[in-house]
Amino acid sequence: MQTLTLEQETNPWEAQAARFDFAAKKLNLDQGIWKVLRQPTREIIIHIPVGMDDGSIEVFTGYRVQHSAARGPGKGGIRYSPDVSLDEVRALASWMTWKCAVVNIPFGGAKGGVICDPKKMSQGELERLTRRYTAELIEFLGPEKDVPAPDMGTDEQTMAWIMDTYSMHMRQTVNAVVTGKPVNLGGSRGRKEATGRGVSVVCDEALKQLGMSPQGTKVIVQGFGNVGSNTAKHLAEKGYTIIGIAEYDGGLFNAKGIDIAALTAHRKEAGTITGFRGAEAANSSELITQPCDILIPAAMENVITSRNADKLRCRILCEGANGPTTPIADEILGDKRVFIIPDILANAGGVTTSYFEWVQDRMGYFWTEPEVNQRLDHIMSTSFHDVIAYSKTHNVNNRIAAYMLAIDRVAYTTKQRGMYA
Ligand code: GLU
Repeated sequence: MQTLTLEQETNPWEAQAARFDFAAKKLNLDQGIWKVLRQPTREIIIHIPVGMDDGSIEVFTGYRVQHSAARGPGKGGIRYSPDVSLDEVRALASWMTWKCAVVNIPFGGAKGGVICDPKKMSQGELERLTRRYTAELIEFLGPEKDVPAPDMGTDEQTMAWIMDTYSMHMRQTVNAVVTGKPVNLGGSRGRKEATGRGVSVVCDEALKQLGMSPQGTKVIVQGFGNVGSNTAKHLAEKGYTIIGIAEYDGGLFNAKGIDIAALTAHRKEAGTITGFRGAEAANSSELITQPCDILIPAAMENVITSRNADKLRCRILCEGANGPTTPIADEILGDKRVFIIPDILANAGGVTTSYFEWVQDRMGYFWTEPEVNQRLDHIMSTSFHDVIAYSKTHNVNNRIAAYMLAIDRVAYTTKQRGMYA
């Protein structure tokens, strides 16, 4: 892993492949299965024409990558961002395969993305983009084929448009084609908060493991989007002290703890966390290297690299985002004995509740929020212990243990199904 160039270091696909190869080697994985699981099954590239509000036509490039359908339908979010690339979507699709296998839910892995800047587009433009993207992919999506969900830049409304477009093509309402929908369209109670809630559950388990307790545990969260804000909310409710929030447009610091409910109210009003009176303004990139017990990157990839990993001063790194840490940074953090809760475990609460949503849609029977949360908490804590046990038995770090556990499960199913020829 040490021979990677800086460019390779921050390429999400290379980062995924480096961990996969390392874990597959440790598992002594059959060479043929290795080749099968190393590549995605299908990569779709589409160019999407959209009529813009000013009368012009714009063409956006979009992707859907289906990494594996061995354990069930493809599953994974759709990302709208100017930084989307095929390599990124590829990596995110494989991470979905491993994530679903770590929490042992019956899905494969997939991911979608469109190169666009949703912050600069109107609702009408976003709706037309989403509907055309869905229409172009129509034969590849479906409750038994591939089930999208929200990711960066997409939300419940995006999922409602996908569900409606798919349903119009099928001539019937098919709500199980996407998850993360509004509750009145067949969404699950608890789905919106699920990723953050799951992050808080694995933090609880890590503290128990290290003989610590939430009271007095200082946390810094990077990102205050869906994952970051709900993580902060759940941790604060459990008694953790959130001392820092690092957002893309500025950070906040308060050694005594930030009132997350008040901050959420401020953000709703002001549209940004900056200007909040209950904390001092802070530089976001400096915040993540401040001393704390738990650092939670909950925004984007590659924020912890060979350039800053040695400066981190946290005991636990809990990855709310996908791919926030590069493989070289992993080695540096390993030497510093940072306890890492890897992304494919830490942020799996979102897809776990997506699974519950898909199950409820197919049953046509909806659970109460406490029922959803109780099932989610159980899966998250069990999966945490599965990964820790694997790391002890095989004498590997938590990340490699999570990959090994996941690859082992997917490889087993792949072998059992055999090769269709
Ligand atoms: N986008 C989320 C993730 O990266 C959720 C995916 C899903 O619910 O299918 O895990």
